[in-house]
Amino acid sequence: MELPIYLDNNATTPLDPRVLDAMMPYLTSKFGNAASRSHAFGWIAEEAADLAREQIARLIGCTDKEIIFTSGATEADNLGIKGVYETYQEKGNHIITVNTEHKAVLDTCKHLEKLGARVTYLEVDSEGLINLAELESAISSETILVTVMYGNNEIGVLQPVKEIAAIAHRHGALFMTDATQAVGKIPVNVDEDGIDLMAFTAHKMYGPKGVGALYVRRKNPRVKITAQIDGGGHERGMRSGTLNIPGIVGLGKACELCRLEMDNEGARLSKLRNKLESAFLQTEECYRNGNAEQRLPHVSNISFKYVEAEGLMMAMKGIAVSSGSACTSASIEPSHVLKSLGLPDNLAQAAIRFGLGRFTTEEEIDYTIETTLRAVEQLRSLSPVWEMYKEI
Ligand SMILES: *Cc1c(COP(=O)(O)O)cnc(C)c1O
Repeated sequence: MELPIYLDNNATTPLDPRVLDAMMPYLTSKFGNAASRSHAFGWIAEEAADLAREQIARLIGCTDKEIIFTSGATEADNLGIKGVYETYQEKGNHIITVNTEHKAVLDTCKHLEKLGARVTYLEVDSEGLINLAELESAISSETILVTVMYGNNEIGVLQPVKEIAAIAHRHGALFMTDATQAVGKIPVNVDEDGIDLMAFTAHKMYGPKGVGALYVRRKNPRVKITAQIDGGGHERGMRSGTLNIPGIVGLGKACELCRLEMDNEGARLSKLRNKLESAFLQTEECYRNGNAEQRLPHVSNISFKYVEAEGLMMAMKGIAVSSGSACTSASIEPSHVLKSLGLPDNLAQAAIRFGLGRFTTEEEIDYTIETTLRAVEQLRSLSPVWEMYKEI
């Protein structure tokens, strides 16, 4: 076993060597511009992009014409939300989303509020799930878009997207989902789930950074979006700019591998995750954040009460995890997701996210359990608050 151990796969994943192999020729000899129609260099690049579209389409159950390549999920979120807002303004200006979304969605909605949009931010319960009745009462004939993430990046909770989509459609609104953490990890099918637009990215599924896609439904209904980047009219006018062929090839290959390996890999990861989690939950004053059933197989978010996450991470030598907190210049802000669950600051600031991945081994999990619990014990033994708790 080699140190450090990488358990931050929700932030990014390593590139699978098989993905790199697929990409390599497109970084060297097959360097053509997919928009060059007059020679073989261009045709080869275009064929590669077409193959990637098919690989993606097979993973998510759409057609190849419904894929728009972007620079990642942030851009796809922007394109989907702003693109729908601009196109459907005649129908209404209301958008519904959720407090626990990624900043790529929240900040895009905030931007649209400045331009005249009305945005409802639904709250979640203490386990991270939205209330469908609240969605029903927030939605109206003015609502053009309901955008709710598939699986949360910090706590892994899966929203009931199928039910959410049905409610949106019943009121004539479109349903979009940021499925960045779910695509490639669990079965996601745009038809079965009723998804009209969907953002995802390669670097969370063992592909390269800087490439992602927006799925845009073409039938029942035909969804229209307004381009946010204008230029040569690439991607049927919806996203101009020379295609990032090596990245796109990588995204396609990553999707193919995920499709073929998802069942076994999901079972393997949830077993390892459960082993890790149950060791923590058996320890005094350690709590899981988020619903235990409806969630991704590879994430566990645990609050180690009476310990500061920042200090704990430093004490967990050789293990790369994340606290979910955002460090601003002066103070450490607890994550907006954990706050939305109603966690008090002391629990939010004691939270560590463990994100397992394709290259995580059982040996690494055993080491992580041991090292983390030793660090927790050590920090608590130095803590006056812990001492006070023990005396009561
Ligand atoms: C990582 C992530 C993003 C951003 O993806 P990029 O490709 O890095 O822009 C957006 N949404 C969620 C849920 C994510 O986990």
